[in-house]
Order: sequence, then structure tokens, then C-alpha cells
Amino acid sequence: MGKVTGFLEFQRIKESYEAPAARLKHWREFVHTLTDEEARVQGARCMDCGIPFCSNGCPVNNIIPDWNDLVYRQDWRRALDVLHSTNNFPEFTGRVCPAPCEAACTLNINDDAVGIKSIEHAIIDKGWQEGWVTPQPPQRKTGKKVAVVGSGPAGLACAQQLARAGHAVTVFEKSNRIGGLLRYGIPDFKLEKSHIDRRLAQMEAEGVEFCPSTYVGDAAHAEDGLTVRSPESLQAEFDAVVLTGGAEQPRDLPAPGRELRGVHFAMDFLRQQNKVNNGDRVEKQISAKGKHVIVIGGGDTGSDCVGTSNRQGALSVTQFELMSKLPEVENRPLTWPYWPAKLRTSSSHDEGCERDWSVSTRSFEGKGGKIDKLVAARVEWFKDKATGQLKMREVEGSQFELPADLVLLAMGFVSPVKNVLDAFGVDSDARGNARADTDSYKTNVDKVFAAGDMRRGQSLIVWAIREGRQCARSVDAYLMGGSTLPR
Ligand SMILES: Cc1cc2nc3c(=O)[nH]c(=O)nc-3n(C[C@H](O)[C@H](O)[C@H](O)COP(=O)(O)OP(=O)(O)OC[C@H]3O[C@@H](n4cnc5c(N)ncnc54)[C@H](O)[C@@H]3O)c2cc1C
Ligand code: SF4
Repeated sequence: MGKVTGFLEFQRIKESYEAPAARLKHWREFVHTLTDEEARVQGARCMDCGIPFCSNGCPVNNIIPDWNDLVYRQDWRRALDVLHSTNNFPEFTGRVCPAPCEAACTLNINDDAVGIKSIEHAIIDKGWQEGWVTPQPPQRKTGKKVAVVGSGPAGLACAQQLARAGHAVTVFEKSNRIGGLLRYGIPDFKLEKSHIDRRLAQMEAEGVEFCPSTYVGDAAHAEDGLTVRSPESLQAEFDAVVLTGGAEQPRDLPAPGRELRGVHFAMDFLRQQNKVNNGDRVEKQISAKGKHVIVIGGGDTGSDCVGTSNRQGALSVTQFELMSKLPEVENRPLTWPYWPAKLRTSSSHDEGCERDWSVSTRSFEGKGGKIDKLVAARVEWFKDKATGQLKMREVEGSQFELPADLVLLAMGFVSPVKNVLDAFGVDSDARGNARADTDSYKTNVDKVFAAGDMRRGQSLIVWAIREGRQCARSVDAYLMGGSTLPR
């Protein structure tokens, strides 16, 4: 523990942001990383608790008190090594993780949590700046070959671990670029894509081979122009196959008028803007410029639609949430150390957006096949006496309408796309995810494993990294009869 009385002396320091009016003019990141001195003071606030709840709250079990102490002592190099020992990609989590570790921090019971995520961000950025992040190729090769299908954080973490264990790893990705939702979901203003590119260069130097624009599955479901690899060809060529294809099936809103032009899934809108920012050509981009935009769904995806719409020059942005508004401050004695349900306001909301809760969409209306209005009603939530379950009813006479030129459906993802699992003959669970446990990550099909959102359903980057790492260990043990990779 760095400074014994640090938590009494110092306040939490938040990372500062470029002002909304300035950052709305560009697509770059706008968060200012802590200075060395600010990070040192944050590290000093860590109490090095006997039981580090933060470490348990973090899905990859980052060894947080150790790197807090090392940053307090300004031993950045060792802090980076400790951070990398549990997390392959702290530059992603240090930027966009919602930080369940901070909810679990003991200081969070009656004070502000240690700024764990901001310290993580500072450590990894310094690591890259100083040239300390270098390839770690294996000392010897095993002669075994592994195929990873899908290049999001789960696939990348799994591939990196397996390559470092000496296996020949090939990552297949149907998109034209590697990175999964890091690349085509999360906007540049939250995560610039150069962070992905330099990791990919590191992984290539460690021996990972990337095959973009390659669809794995049944040719009938592949988009035109892609190389197709059948499950059988992969199973014949590789000693193990890991499915990390994400949970790509979006939740739809089958209200009257859904077919009108101007009603789109959030991912179609976000992917296009990310492609434009990547320098790719996009035919007929869905644009919010000069439009009244309504975003339906209050999560991360919805918030990214708000930030993207404002940067494109929307006339107005409104975000609806079906659930009721949560309190701004949680009841900490009741919720700590768990992730609390509370109102979360993102940097995109701060850039300009009307938010409304307990709103249900009744219909989309328009002229000439194009939307111009959204009709909605207010709902109230109540506990059903018979079942104890939360139920919803419409408030009588509460119907209202709003002008709408662009509606973005951001209500989450139901499951993985079924035909990919079907092509492999992989069983799914009751929610439609690939069925595999978190010890072995094995599916019902010989040599085929599954991890990340494809196995657990829509989740977070940090959970994808955890599953990718744990799955790599299981694959290594399956191929070699044992593994020294960490879980
Ligand atoms: C808009 C948006 C914003 C988000 N923001 C955050 C955030 O701020 N913080 C956070 O922690 N999480 C966030 N998430 C969630 C996070 O991105 C995901 O949980 C995470 O990326 C899942 O990782 P994954 O590797 O399992 O799958 P994915 O990242 O979905 O990657 C799966 C990849 O597999 C490929 N693939 C699928 N099928 C095939 C096939 N048959 N052949 C070849 N390739 C295939 C896909 O093209 C994709 O590239 C966000 C999600 C979205 C949609
Ligand atoms: S990965 Fe997320 S949960 Fe873990 S230490 Fe970093 S911010 Fe916290």
C-alpha cells in the first residue's frame, strides 16, 4: 500500500473531457488521460484492502491494488506487467469498460471509489508511448493449428493466448477489417481504431494470421464477395475451432410502420459511420444530418447513436427508454459491492439529447413510404400480485407523437445468428446462445469451442476478454493434455 493515509487526504480526480461544443466537431477521442502526478494521487487513495473486492468485481480479476501501489511509486513498467498479466487489451477496457471494479471498491461504500479505470488507462497509454508493449512470440511451436471464427475482443484474446502458447492460430472474420464490435460498433470518439491496429500488428508478430472478408458457415448465408469456409473444411484442417462470432441478432420492434424508410437498426447506422471513419466507401449512408432523430433503447448502443447523430448534425435527438427512470444515486449499503441499477448519463447524453423514460412506441407513421412521425404512449410498471413479476400497462390517454425523420432501434441483441451455430451443428441454450460451460468452453461438437457474446449473450468487452482467455486455456489443455496459461 502506497500511502497509508492517502484515502483520507486525497479526493477522486476524474479524467477531464474536451468541451462538448468542440468535441462535436470531430470524431476523435476527447478524454484527457491523467497526468503522472494525478495518477500517483489516485493510486495513493487505494487502501489495499485485505479482501480486494475491486479485483473480484472486475471480470478479468485485474490485480488492482498492486498496480495502484506501483503507480503511486511511479514504477510504471512493473504496473504495466501486472496489468497485462490478467488483461490482454487494457487500452480497450481502460477507455470503454463501465468499470464494475469501481462499484465494488471499498471506498465506494461511503466515499468516491478509487479511479481504477483512469489509472488503467494511464498505465497502458504510457506503456505504448514508452515502447514497452512488444510482441511476445512463443519460444517453441507445438505444431497444432487452431481456427478462431470472429475477431472481436473474445476472438482476439483467445488467439493471442493460444499463439503465445505456441499454437498456429488463424482468425477468420467476415467483415473487411478485424476487430468485431470494437471496430464497427463502438464509435471512434470512444475508441479510436488505431488502438486496434497496433494490437493486431503485435499479434501478427506473435504469429497470428488474420483472414478478413471470410465467412465461416453455409455459403447460402454469406454476403456477396466474401470468401466462404465451410465448417467441415475448418474441422479437417485445424486441431480445434473456437467460435467467437458475437451476438449479432438485433431485437426488433414489430410496430405498425416498421417497414417505412428511415427506421433502422442501430448497428446498421453505427457500422456505416465507423466505415466512413475507417476510410471505406459506403453507398447511401444513413445520415442524421438535418433530421429529427429518435433513438429507441437506453443502453450503450443507444448512447452511441446519440453521439453519432449529434456529430452528423441532427436537428434534434430524443432517446426513449421503456423502463422507468432510475435514481441518480444508488442505495449503497444495499447494492455494494455489486453493480447497482442507477441512472447513467454518458458523455454523449451531455452533448445534447432529450431523454424520456417509461415510453412505449405504438407506431411509425409517414408519407410516400418514408417515416415522418412516431406515435408513443406512457407506461407504468407494477408488480403482479399473483406471480410477483414486474409488468407494464399503458397509461390511459397518454398517447403522444413526435416528428421523426430517422428512428434508430437500439434495444439490444437477442442472440447469435442462428445459422452459424446450425452450420456447425452446435446446440444452443434456452436463449439461443451456443451451449458450452465456463470450465471447458466445449460445445457438443468435437473440437469445437465457443466463447464471448456468442456463448454468454450480449455483454461487455471485459467479459469477452475473460472468456477468450479462459477458453484459450481450455483449448490448450485439450491439445496438449495440460496448460500453463492463466485462467
Ligand atoms: C454499439 C455498441 C457499443 C458498445 N459499447 C460498449 C462499451 O462501451 N463497453 C463495453 O464493455 N462493451 C460495449 N459493447 C459490447 C461489446 O462490444 C461486446 O460485448 C463485445 O464486443 C463482444 O465481443 P465478442 O468478441 O464476443 O463479439 P463481437 O465483438 O461481436 O465480434 C464478433 C465478430 O465475429 C464475426 N463473425 C460473426 N459470424 C461470423 C462468421 N460466420 N464468419 C466470420 N466471422 C463472423 C463478426 O463479424 C464480428 O466481427 C457495445 C456493443 C455495441 C453493439
Ligand atoms: S477491466 Fe473494467 S472492471 Fe477490470 S479493472 Fe479495468 S475498468 Fe475495472
